[in-house]
Amino acid sequence: MLAIELTNLQKTYAGGFAALKGIDLKVAQGDFFALLGPNGAGKSTLIGILSSLVLKTGGTCTIMGLDIDRDGARAKSHLGIVPQEFNLNIFETPRQILIHQAGYYGLPAKIAAVRADKYLAELGLTDKAHVQTRMLSGGMKRRLMIARALIHQPAILILDEPTAGVDIELRKLIWNFLTELNRQGTTIILTTHYLEEAENLCRHIAIIDRGLIIAHTQMKTLLNRLGQQTYIVDLSKPIKKSPQLKHFAPTLVDAHTLEIAVKRHQPMNALFAELTAKRIAVANIREKTNRLEQLFLELTTKEAAP
Ligand code: ADP
Ligand code: MG
Repeated sequence: MLAIELTNLQKTYAGGFAALKGIDLKVAQGDFFALLGPNGAGKSTLIGILSSLVLKTGGTCTIMGLDIDRDGARAKSHLGIVPQEFNLNIFETPRQILIHQAGYYGLPAKIAAVRADKYLAELGLTDKAHVQTRMLSGGMKRRLMIARALIHQPAILILDEPTAGVDIELRKLIWNFLTELNRQGTTIILTTHYLEEAENLCRHIAIIDRGLIIAHTQMKTLLNRLGQQTYIVDLSKPIKKSPQLKHFAPTLVDAHTLEIAVKRHQPMNALFAELTAKRIAVANIREKTNRLEQLFLELTTKEAAP
């Protein structure tokens, strides 16, 4: 059984704007899945349909094998959703919010209290448990929304841009938390336009652009499809000008640094051989660009071409 299956999913908003133009998507149980796309691509619309905040205008959607049209309530009970916009009752305390949410799912009060405290602790919110939520920072509110989405321990956690506007340290905390949750078996789907986030966390990825899926594959496969990659080469000894190589065109960034583009079919050995022949000693080599970002540009510019 798949965690999520979307077939020809469509959404045309009142007014005629087609935000989703026939999405086919399968997410396996236990997966860590990224839905990557620029602003306006349709990510939140898709998640809105899953969480039944948005009514689809075509296609089918199943969650843990349950069709949302026939079995909406049961289907929804398998989902925890962390929306893009804050939608917390800011006059309640974090602990109250979690306990109320547990109430919606019919959890006994004792279990609710234990779980609330567990998730507050795991997300670093214990010392804010009893203050009004309006006093929390943006990052804390985001973590509280994650705790709230998990209170009924759903099989699938969906996060819509979970780390937008969250600083690096907190982002890492959230990443570690999600990684551990996934390791324990929860299927995780997140949307992001932080490419690094998708690359670091996710096993599978779909790229959505203007309401259509333009790529859907393993993260590894997708990264392998990249045409070329630019490397920064740190040199052991300074050089004055860029070396003339047969198969590569390095640029001298400074006396200790070269930048070299390597095409996918070109072996790295060839690069080292040529540098060695020129008596250039390499101290270190690293990737210049985020490969996913490069790939995304490639895919979307091709799509845009007539
Ligand atoms: P994303 O989350 O990828 O940024 P959205 O799903 O929020 O994209 O939006 C997709 C497109 O649908 C955008 O062009 C947006 O303006 C449009 N849209 C979103 N919500 C509505 C709505 N309620 N009415 C009309 N158009 C909408
Ligand atoms: Mg969105």
